[in-house]
Amino acid sequence: MSFYQIYRPKKISELDLASVREGLLSSLSSGKISHAYLFVGPRGSGKTSAARIMAKIINCKQNEGKKKDFSEPCGECESCRVITRGSSVDVIEIDAASNGLVDDIRELRDRVRLAPVQLAKKVYIIDEVHMVSTSGFNALLKTLEEPPEHVMFILCTTESQKVPETILSRCVRVNFTKATIEEVVDSLKKVVLSEGLSVDEEILKEIAEATDGSFREGHKLLEQLSGYGKTIDRESLIKVLGTAGRQSVKKLLDAAINHQTEEVIKIFDDMEKVGTKASILVLTILAVTKTEMERCVRDGSSPEVYLKLINNLILAADKIKISPLPLLPLEIVLLSLSVEGKGEEPATASRPVSEKKQVEDSVVKVSSKDIVDKSNEVTQGDSATIVNIDTVKLGWVDFIKTVALTYGSLAGMLRLVSPVYVEGKSLTLSVTSRFQQEMLEREVKKKVIEEEMAKLWGPLTFKCVLIDRGSRTEPRSEDENLSQINGGIDTIQGVMLAAEKIFG
Ligand SMILES: [Zn+2]
Repeated sequence: MSFYQIYRPKKISELDLASVREGLLSSLSSGKISHAYLFVGPRGSGKTSAARIMAKIINCKQNEGKKKDFSEPCGECESCRVITRGSSVDVIEIDAASNGLVDDIRELRDRVRLAPVQLAKKVYIIDEVHMVSTSGFNALLKTLEEPPEHVMFILCTTESQKVPETILSRCVRVNFTKATIEEVVDSLKKVVLSEGLSVDEEILKEIAEATDGSFREGHKLLEQLSGYGKTIDRESLIKVLGTAGRQSVKKLLDAAINHQTEEVIKIFDDMEKVGTKASILVLTILAVTKTEMERCVRDGSSPEVYLKLINNLILAADKIKISPLPLLPLEIVLLSLSVEGKGEEPATASRPVSEKKQVEDSVVKVSSKDIVDKSNEVTQGDSATIVNIDTVKLGWVDFIKTVALTYGSLAGMLRLVSPVYVEGKSLTLSVTSRFQQEMLEREVKKKVIEEEMAKLWGPLTFKCVLIDRGSRTEPRSEDENLSQINGGIDTIQGVMLAAEKIFG
C-alpha cells in the first residue's frame, strides 16, 4: 500500500483541509446529513477519502437510528470494517472518466431502488461526475429528484461548471480547495512521524511547493524520497525532482535570458529523456521567476522580462493539461524568451547564397522527381493510392484546422512543417529541427497524425526529413497556399512568432 492509502484520513476530524473538516463536522452534530453531496475540488485534495468516511458514518453501528449528533466512524464495527476493506457491495464507486459508464448510469436508476444488502444505506460515489453523458445525467437527475430513503449520493468533480445546474441544485456542495503549503506540510508530518523519517521543515515545504497543494502528489513524492533512505535532504530531493529542481531551472532561465537558444533546446531534450513532469516543472519555473522578479523590484531594476514570463507561464500551465506533449508549451515559452530581441537579422542572412541555393535545389529536385514517380504509380493501377502531393498541399490548411479542434499544440507543431512529397502511401514532411522531427515521430503523436490524415486522404503514413533552417527561401508561386500556413518561416524567430500566435 502506498503512503497515501496508509495515511488516508479515517475520520472527518483527520481531514487535512480545515474548511472541509469544520463544515462537515458541524453538519454531523446538527444532523443535517444530506442524501446527495457534490464534492468539488482539484485532484488529490481528499474528496474520495472524505466520501468514504461519510459512507462509514451513515452506516456505523454507533449511529444506528440517529437523527443528529452523529459520531465519527468507530472503525471497529462490521460496517466500518467492510467499507475500509473496500469490499462492501453497498458502497458503489463509479469512475465516470472510464469506459462503460453509460450503461452503469442507466442501470443505476433501476438498481438504486433495491434495498442495500449488507449495510443500512447504499452509498454511490461517482468520481469525475462531469464526465457523465447527457443521458447519464438525465438518469441521475430522476434518481436525485425522488431519492429512496436507503441511498446516499456523493458526486465528486474537478470541474463543477460542467455539471448541469439541475444536478447542482439538488446536492449539498462542499468545496475542497487547493491545500495551502502549510496544510500539505502538516499532512506530510504525520507520515514523517509514523515512518520514522528525518526531514527538515524546509524540505517538506519544497515538496509541498512542488506538488502544488495536492495531498496525494505530496505523499507520492515523499514516498519516492523515502526510497533513498530515512534521512531526506536536498540531495535526495534533487535526485527525485531531477531536472525540475531549482538549480536546473535557474540554468534554464539563464540560458533563455542570455539568448542561448541551442542550450534551451538541449535542456528540454534532456528533460524529455528523463521524463521530467511538466506540471512540476512549471511550478518550479514560476517560483524561481517570482523570486527573480521580486529581486528586480527591490534592486530598482526593471522586472519587465520576468513579469512577461510569468504571464506566459500561467497561460502555458493551462495548455500542459491538454497538450499531447506536456513539456512543449513550456519549451515554447522559454524559446520565445530566448529569441526575443536577439537581433533583427534573420539567422539565414549570413549564410553564403551559393550554399543556400544548393540545399534548396536538392529538396526541390527530390520533390519533383517524386511527383513524376507518383503519377506513374497511379496509372499502374494501385487503386488504394489515390492521393498525390498536390492534393495534400491543397488540403494542408484544412487538415491542420481539423487537428487543431482536438489537439491544439500538435496542430501548432504541424504548422511549422511542410508536406514535400508522397511516395506510395507515405508522405514526407520537411522539418527544420531534430526536435520537431522527434516530437512528430513519437509513437503517440504519429498515430494521431496518421489517423487524422486517413480521414482526409485515406491510409497514409508519414516520415520527416530534416532540412537546414536556412534552406527555405521565398515560397514559389505554387506553394502560395502553403506559405499562408507557414507564414514564410525562415528563422527560429519566425517559427517562434508563429508558435506564439498559435499558442496565443
Ligand atoms: Zn463503525
